[in-house]
Amino acid sequence: MTFSNFSLDRRILAGIKGCGYETPTPIQEQAIPLVLKGHDVMGLAQTGTGKTAAFALPILQRLLTSKKSDRAIPSVLVLAPTRELALQIDENFNDLGKQTGIRSGVVIGGVGMNPQIKAFSHCRIIVACPGRLVRLLNKGSVSLNHIDTLVLDEADRMLDMGFMPDIKRILAKLPVKRQNLLFSATMPKDIRKLAENILNNPKTVQV
Ligand code: AMP
Repeated sequence: MTFSNFSLDRRILAGIKGCGYETPTPIQEQAIPLVLKGHDVMGLAQTGTGKTAAFALPILQRLLTSKKSDRAIPSVLVLAPTRELALQIDENFNDLGKQTGIRSGVVIGGVGMNPQIKAFSHCRIIVACPGRLVRLLNKGSVSLNHIDTLVLDEADRMLDMGFMPDIKRILAKLPVKRQNLLFSATMPKDIRKLAENILNNPKTVQV
């Protein structure tokens, strides 16, 4: 199995090469074809398994082939529990997508809001911590009206950290018709419930 098996755009293959990835990890082998087909996916995987690229690569591919590709407004929203993780995901998207012209931006606490608000006018991917995103939404500074892909990363940690109310506020602002990907290292009852609420006919991948 190589990355060329997935029929990814050559610009994405160049990004993969630039990151030094040679072969897909097991979670990537399983998840990439499903996400490319447009399925909702429940991914049970820890950090370190390559789960970020497992959703980033097919999302970049779908953005490249999307009819809306010329519009530099966010259509992908990734929610992550911590600033560190959000920054890592953002960096991974920008590295893998380097040759594509598709940009990712972060929305995290502890730094100025203005650059984050500006990101909504030139980034197609927003990687956000729920608390800060809710603050921007409450100020009326940003819109999620064009989001058609939602990723909840490390969902179990987000719930442990008490982000459920913020996640609900964010979900209420999203268009109903969208692809949903939920990644979690564990599958306690509250994650199962969240998955039932958010995912439509999901495919499950596990490593
Ligand atoms: P993640 O689980 O997404 O946090 O990824 C863990 C680390 O593995 C990160 O440093 C990634 O850049 C790296 N990585 C992801 N996919 C691959 C791959 N196919 N081959 C080698 N390294 C990878």
